[in-house]
Amino acid sequence: MKTKERATISDAEWEVMRVVWTNKQTTSREIIAILESKMNWKPATIKTLIGRLVEKGMLQAKPEGNKYLYQAAVSEEESVEEKSSAFFEHICNKKAGKTLAYLLEEAELSFDDVGLLEKVLQQKKQEAVTEVSCKCTPGQCNCKASYDEA
Ligand SMILES: [Zn+2]
Repeated sequence: MKTKERATISDAEWEVMRVVWTNKQTTSREIIAILESKMNWKPATIKTLIGRLVEKGMLQAKPEGNKYLYQAAVSEEESVEEKSSAFFEHICNKKAGKTLAYLLEEAELSFDDVGLLEKVLQQKKQEAVTEVSCKCTPGQCNCKASYDEA
């Protein structure tokens, strides 16, 4: 029962958004030049992705002469946060800690990053609970099964 009904950005569309976020204002020609070789996509594929992003309201298209200038309608930071939270909606709350530990182990971090994480962890330690509550739909995780069957 998630109330947020915002369009999501697919992995392929994400590649296009990165170009737009980086270049602020860009053209389909520029997006194609950057992604054609990296993704091995045809220009038509990239144009389709751009069109979809415009439809979803993620990109703004401003006519300029015989072409369009594209601008992001959503910020990169906000989108990254949303995509990360969306991922955690796919796993049981009880698995969040282990999953975060795994992500941490995998990431290359600067001293500043580690400092930031230490701060967050300090805060989290104050708010920690003995047992994380599972909010899964019965049948989608095993947390509740052992209690319910008794
Ligand atoms: Zn669960």
